Amino acid sequence: MEKKIPYRHYLTEEQLPRQWYNLRADMKELPDPLRNPATGEALKEEDLYPIFCKELAHQEMDNTTRYVDIPEGIMEIYKQYRPAPLVRAYNLEKALGTPAEIYYKFEGNNTSGSHKLNSAIPQAYYAKKQGLKALTTETGAGQWGSALSEACSYFDMPLTVYMVKVSYEQKPFRRTLMQTFNAEVIPSPSMTTQVGKKILADNPNCTGSLGTAISEAVEKAVTNEGSRYVLGSVLNQVLLHQSIIGLEAYKSMEILGVYPDVVIGCAGGGSNLGGLIAPFMRDKITGVHPNTEFIAVEPASCPSLTRGKYAYDFCDTGKICPLAKMYTLGCEYIPSASHAGGLRYHGMSPIISKLYHDGYMKAVAVEQTKVFEAAKMFAKYETILPAPESSHAIRVAIDEALKCKETGEKKTILFGLTGTGFFDMFAYDKFIKGEMSDYIPTDEELEASFAKLPQIEEK
Ligand SMILES: *Cc1c(COP(=O)(O)O)cnc(C)c1O
Repeated sequence: MEKKIPYRHYLTEEQLPRQWYNLRADMKELPDPLRNPATGEALKEEDLYPIFCKELAHQEMDNTTRYVDIPEGIMEIYKQYRPAPLVRAYNLEKALGTPAEIYYKFEGNNTSGSHKLNSAIPQAYYAKKQGLKALTTETGAGQWGSALSEACSYFDMPLTVYMVKVSYEQKPFRRTLMQTFNAEVIPSPSMTTQVGKKILADNPNCTGSLGTAISEAVEKAVTNEGSRYVLGSVLNQVLLHQSIIGLEAYKSMEILGVYPDVVIGCAGGGSNLGGLIAPFMRDKITGVHPNTEFIAVEPASCPSLTRGKYAYDFCDTGKICPLAKMYTLGCEYIPSASHAGGLRYHGMSPIISKLYHDGYMKAVAVEQTKVFEAAKMFAKYETILPAPESSHAIRVAIDEALKCKETGEKKTILFGLTGTGFFDMFAYDKFIKGEMSDYIPTDEELEASFAKLPQIEEK
């Protein structure tokens, strides 16, 4: 008799992973190194100390340690909101009439509302441990800012958040949430930095972008003694922390006796996707499960993997951060004001970029009205209001399940449900009123942005 899979599977406290997994240790070829924009030299760990705290600089550059112990001080807070459930989408499957089995890992069960808290906690923890005085960061949709505010508040670490102006205006309650956790929140671009002033001088109505907000946050950190900038995605260290998502999902599936044929995640900077896929990608690379498919889903309005260039580029518009080799639309590219704020980033994690470039995974770009149709259907059958970002993954999971309906294949689909949409009611409202549009950049627009990519000599 077939084993009955529960609607929701939770690991016990004893079963929680105690180590993060570093996929780089198993990759056949590593992502290209970070480089100094001025000299083209590959950066060393010490070169990163002025920007990141030491432990995180180490994690950023460590390509060999396979498993990294999670410090007890971090486990203490992880246990407040983890494990995240692995949910079998029985009701959605039934509604779709698909023979596929659909599972999702739900990361929206904490106050900040997304997976971002998984990396915010270690970043605040290591900063505190190093005796730093303050942190700065940027936030697009507000999820990262909320998560870091929550983590910094726990460790009594002062925090300044530069929030992309369009979200600051669309999501006032995100700001209030961050302020509740004692963060200072500034709409970006702002007059508090040189970068911000310059951008506002060129375009006073600029609604901001993640890249610009990063530049402001970096400038604020480097011009204030004892301050550091922390980033919620893209970086290797963030993917390392987010591996907790994949490790838990992996363990739950092992206990349930299932294994995914397809793993799907939305991709902004690539952190939830990198974290979710980590142990499954390990199995693919090492030949244990060579046929698993991986799909990154991005917005058609900001298609860095599907239409970007694989090149060295700045992680930020202000060109202060090191250069990373990644799929990018160009660091000056400002995507249209889509409602998936967390996916409006010009680049992509170097790890994800490398895996994609080497053919280990696929990418698809989807339009936001199609995404919200999927979100609405998901809310109805699974009773969770999904974040617009997460709904990109839902869209493609549904499409994959519908393909199975045609072919009769009984695939096992796993996707990352990264967060809740409670702070995204403005976006849902637009969708319900039929006022949402799908902006897709033209090739000319992208070419104009590619033309500005830095020309560096790799040394
Ligand atoms: C930030 C965010 C994302 C995208 O970020 P990644 O680094 O690509 O994971 C996706 N979903 C939610 C809910 C987010 O807040």
